[in-house]
Amino acid sequence: MAGKVANGMAADAAVEGPVAASSEAVSADVTFSIDAEGWIAGLRRVESPNADARPEGEPPCLAVIHAISLPPDEFGGDDILRLFTNTLDPDAHPYFAGIAALRVSAHFLIRRDGEAIQFVAAGRRAWHAGVSRWCGRERCNDFSVGIELEGGDAHPFTAAQYATLRRVLAALCARYPITAVAGHADIAPGRKTDPGPHFDWSQLAVAGQPPRRF
Ligand SMILES: [Zn+2]
Repeated sequence: MAGKVANGMAADAAVEGPVAASSEAVSADVTFSIDAEGWIAGLRRVESPNADARPEGEPPCLAVIHAISLPPDEFGGDDILRLFTNTLDPDAHPYFAGIAALRVSAHFLIRRDGEAIQFVAAGRRAWHAGVSRWCGRERCNDFSVGIELEGGDAHPFTAAQYATLRRVLAALCARYPITAVAGHADIAPGRKTDPGPHFDWSQLAVAGQPPRRF
């Protein structure tokens, strides 16, 4: 039922949203389909072991936007994929020694060219948020979907990334009762800064739900 409501809102936003007239909105209108487990059809899939079951009866209600680049501020390589699959070489870059042993993953990574890669089914719990709090609730991994944008605090995101992000959010809203989108910095203030000052929240206006930040 919630899915139908979200679909209706997505259709309304696509027609009436301020970005609807742009060419980006045309691609955003091409909906992704998402299966019962939470895999989006057609995306490159790189399954991460860094995930487990959500608490019983806990569908995701929050989308968390992150930014990542590995090595920091370098784009296009496969080191993010290696980090999320526990295959990052700690000796390949000085920065990697401190992170290679982390067991982390987001559900999605959206690359600079707009390609989306899925690591974890949205119905499962990915390990992306760490110590976190949203609307008085802790352990945001329990009830959120994590979406990484390839980028960093010093870099504007690309139009292709926003277009794909809108499509991913619309697909999530069609299946889950997503009621808000937050930045990692919003749920882990003082500890995290991503997605950073360049993330343009107004770009989400045509997604399944208007952005609601906390
Ligand atoms: Zn993050």
